Amino acid sequence: MTEIDKPQREVDVPADWTYASAPESRDIVHIRDRYGYYVGGEWLEPAETYETIAPRDEEPLAAVGQATTEDVRRAVAAARTAYADGWSSLPGSERAKYLFRIARILQERAREFAVLESLNGGKPIKESRDVDLPLAAAHFFYYAGWADKLEYAFPNRRPRPVGVAGQIIPWNFPLLMLAWKVAPALACGNTVVLKPAETTPLTALLFCDVLRQAELPDGVVNIVTGDGRTGAALVESEDVDKIAFTGSTEVGKEIQRRLAGTGKRLTLELGGKAANIVFDDAALDQAVEGIVNGIYFNQGHVCCAGSRLFVQESIYEPLVAKLERRLTTLRVGDPLDKNSDVGAINSAAQLEKIRELVASGVEEGAEIYQPPCVLPEKGYWFAPTVFTNVAQSYRIAQEEIFGPVLSVLTFRTPEEALEKANNTPYGLSAGVWTEKGSRILWMTQRLRAGVVWANTFNRFDPASPFGGYKESGFGREGGRHGLEPYLEFEE
Ligand code: NDP
Repeated sequence: MTEIDKPQREVDVPADWTYASAPESRDIVHIRDRYGYYVGGEWLEPAETYETIAPRDEEPLAAVGQATTEDVRRAVAAARTAYADGWSSLPGSERAKYLFRIARILQERAREFAVLESLNGGKPIKESRDVDLPLAAAHFFYYAGWADKLEYAFPNRRPRPVGVAGQIIPWNFPLLMLAWKVAPALACGNTVVLKPAETTPLTALLFCDVLRQAELPDGVVNIVTGDGRTGAALVESEDVDKIAFTGSTEVGKEIQRRLAGTGKRLTLELGGKAANIVFDDAALDQAVEGIVNGIYFNQGHVCCAGSRLFVQESIYEPLVAKLERRLTTLRVGDPLDKNSDVGAINSAAQLEKIRELVASGVEEGAEIYQPPCVLPEKGYWFAPTVFTNVAQSYRIAQEEIFGPVLSVLTFRTPEEALEKANNTPYGLSAGVWTEKGSRILWMTQRLRAGVVWANTFNRFDPASPFGGYKESGFGREGGRHGLEPYLEFEE
């Protein structure tokens, strides 16, 4: 009997191919019941605390301090002492050693941090494990490399540190935004007071453990937790030399108003409403993956999310059909499940904001599509959403939703795509999908956005500068450019 003649064995084909759950164990993380502030290398006891929770099921995780103006003042004083007592005059090669150490410890403890990030923030573990943690470590490695080369980075300009940096970060990439802020500040010889977002303080507090492990001198990095009032106290603190802020445009503008005339340095990384533009010669399946990554990555809680999709009219129908089909395969669920593609919305307030804007889209006349998916009963959840039939004037095409919601619009010519893409108060990022290199160059030169991706989206690298135009802020983070806000020059 030949191979071909062999009778085929009957195999039971499962009727249902759904994934079994593959939860990451949370045993690796030890969360304390209560956290104070990390100031001058010590834990300060808070007078008042609030509860931080897990957005996937609203489980209380820990009591966290609500820092007062006096607590902030102490943290700034500790940073000033550490600055004057040696950190600012330490040779760059010595500062680099600490940064390398921090990077290596983050790598070693990556799983622990990833689990905590997903638990406290709601993002899928595969994203915290494969994106947030590797990039946070990479940032420290990258800026460790610059610490002893500042004279080469800025020849003949005699760079020196600015002083004490007050850093305020948002909840969408808690540890990664910490790394974006802390690594260049320390590399340049500054000391830091950092305030994490109210809803996601836990990885920043765990990071204090890393600082101790790395034996970073006391007071070089200080962490105070609390809500917007703590952020405002840090902004107003007289002994802070520079404020670095990432968050909403509204708060960014408020900070800019408060700092006007004080002489304090400021960088702002604010909101976005990025255009992701697909031409008719693009590889459609590849583009669909980029669109999905562009808007559903991290539940769309991404300042540079590709939230406005512009499709050339001739491919509108096949592209939208492919996209909607792809959405049916996205798995929405437990952030700690390794199979989840879309996790929980970060907070009740953010969920409310998404719901309100989505309702406005329906009311204004857009057509909504959501794939069939069963959302968990507890916690904060929102199904991946696509709006078609969207007019430029609709709120969903204008305002930052910061959720898993895509607005699809069309265009006929490159000029029209460009005009529509640039028709926004923001200017953080954009994407272009086409097989023609010349068209990529033509578009990227004219798009008013700080970052433009071609045939990809949401790619980050510590060596590449990131920042906005217009209401998306000013100043750059990442790359050699990311050193400048933390340096003064004697020219
Ligand atoms: P915020 O801008 O309020 O938060 C960013 C950070 O600033 C947080 O640490 C926050 O503290 C702090 N903060 C709040 N008020 C002040 C203040 N007056 N002075 C100094 N610091 C302050 O963003 P939200 O969390 O309220 O999110 C609202 C919207 O902003 C989102 O829906 C989204 O559209 C956008 N956003 C954009 C981000 C981006 O990366 N571009 C990131 C986050 C949000 P606390 O967390 O305690 O409020």
